[in-house]
Amino acid sequence: MPTANSPSPRIAIVGAGLAGLVAAQRLTAAGLSVEVFDKGRGVGGRLSTRRDAHNQLTQRQFDHGAQYFTVESPQFRASVDGWLALGVAAEWTGRIAASDAPGQFTPTAPKTRYVGVPTMSAIAKHLAGGLKVSSGVRIAALDRHAGQWRLTDDAGRTHNGYSTVLVALPAPQAADLLVASPSLANACRTVTMRPCWAAMAALTEPLAVPFDGLFVNHGPLSWIARDNSKPGRPPAEAWVLHASREWSEANLELPADVVAEQLLAAWSDAIGVAPVVESITAHRWRYSGPAEPLAERCLADADRGLFAAGDWCGGPRVEGAYLSGLAAAERIIQSYG
Ligand SMILES: Cc1cc2nc3c(=O)[nH]c(=O)nc-3n(C[C@H](O)[C@H](O)[C@H](O)COP(=O)(O)OP(=O)(O)OC[C@H]3O[C@@H](n4cnc5c(N)ncnc54)[C@H](O)[C@@H]3O)c2cc1C
Repeated sequence: MPTANSPSPRIAIVGAGLAGLVAAQRLTAAGLSVEVFDKGRGVGGRLSTRRDAHNQLTQRQFDHGAQYFTVESPQFRASVDGWLALGVAAEWTGRIAASDAPGQFTPTAPKTRYVGVPTMSAIAKHLAGGLKVSSGVRIAALDRHAGQWRLTDDAGRTHNGYSTVLVALPAPQAADLLVASPSLANACRTVTMRPCWAAMAALTEPLAVPFDGLFVNHGPLSWIARDNSKPGRPPAEAWVLHASREWSEANLELPADVVAEQLLAAWSDAIGVAPVVESITAHRWRYSGPAEPLAERCLADADRGLFAAGDWCGGPRVEGAYLSGLAAAERIIQSYG
């Protein structure tokens, strides 16, 4: 358990999404020793960008997770202003519309939207700079060993000697790791995270539609976006399609190539034009966002030195994840008295 007198306490953070990275930055700034583990090849989690594997010449890329973010709180505002000044984020001034029927598009009210530059994941890469991050390490269990927390990864390796562990994962995955704290595990289990099938389409020609992002309120899709309309992207036409949560749930176990074909047909129906695609692939996000986030910004079992954060705590989306990571870091700093 952490105490004010513990020599050089070490903190492990499981999850290098926005919540985990923001917490790691804050704890490091407070002089604490932090190590971050993530199962992915890189950092960022759902702040994710995929390059077009079918045609590398065009350098097309797709933000297939988070599309953009908005800013409400002063804390997030301050960080976003810093990212804007550094050029790792910029405003996306794309034309945004909504559709209530096939082929019908109505411009939405103006709103300031930001994206990472040159990719959504650029923000996570920026935050990870200077941190000790182990990628490609999936933590399978947490237990007590020699009076400290021990992490065991799925290759059977152990990572020992942590006084505090912050679990910054989607709620169902956090619950699995937090069995040592029944109160935290139970709280995580009350949150349902809903899926989203995403498709990434490379087009040979620009699509002649009067929008760059469209909220779709009919059929299988919920959102489509011209990714190359975002700042700092290569010009080759690249579209991301998101299926609605309902459609994604109903078709969760379909093969990805079947989903890609179905979403392509839905796209064509929604806009009244048949896009000529060079390639289209689909990716399943099993936990795209919470159905209903918890009221608390983070979860704490300070006596055990266990904490949890993510976009399912306090508020959803990118800003929610940011505020949750920050709140968890403050709570951990407080636990060291
Ligand atoms: C399709 C989609 C569209 C979205 N659109 C928007 C949008 O337009 N605007 C917006 O604001 N938000 C959007 N979001 C939500 C936004 O992406 C998330 O709210 C935010 O990125 C969550 O950050 P996080 O740190 O809480 O979790 P995550 O980003 O999920 O980070 C968790 C990390 O934990 C890692 N991990 C999981 N299990 C383990 C393990 N056992 N061991 C080690 N590592 C592990 C994962 O690899 C991941 O990197 C969207 C999300 C999706 C999926």
